[in-house]
Amino acid sequence: MKNYQNNLFSFNTLVNALEKIPTIGKKSARKMAYTLAIENAPLGLQIAQAIHDCIATIGKCSVCGALSHGEVCHICLDSNRKNGTLCIVSHPKDVFLIEEIGEFHGVYCVIEDYKHCDFTELIKRVKEENIQEVIFAFMPSLESDLIVMFIQEKLSCLHLKFSKIAQGVPSNVSLDNIDHFSLARAFNARVNA
Ligand SMILES: [Zn+2]
Repeated sequence: MKNYQNNLFSFNTLVNALEKIPTIGKKSARKMAYTLAIENAPLGLQIAQAIHDCIATIGKCSVCGALSHGEVCHICLDSNRKNGTLCIVSHPKDVFLIEEIGEFHGVYCVIEDYKHCDFTELIKRVKEENIQEVIFAFMPSLESDLIVMFIQEKLSCLHLKFSKIAQGVPSNVSLDNIDHFSLARAFNARVNA
């Protein structure tokens, strides 16, 4: 068995790499490696190229922290989006979800780690962009309520309206597990934070 495995070094390297993806176990990693490298090699090469291109061209926007092609993202560069509302999310992928429902027309701020967030920069941005309302689009949970309070405290020197999405969003459910209709309703029925 050992010799057999050693002879398949590159296949095993691929399996080991795939296994590092969250939620992928050894069995699934082996199945994926078989599909990508043996059964459907063109797909494997296409994925390899797409990953390579993404790493080379996509990063985080220097203003809002969402994914961006270039230093500043498309939303931050769009003057039509500067309508005085700022939506705070906890992960760049949440920007995709909110953009998909199309109910929000302001700008974003991604705060992945509130303990290390540069609030001086954020306060400067809120002033410069004349932000009036801050909407928290976090997964409802006790922990996120505390984060919301922490951020509100940091921004308390500004005269802002704070609101958060709430109704229709069940507690402790990640935003990407909520259907579009519920998320759209939650956005429109936002409550004071
Ligand atoms: Zn941006």
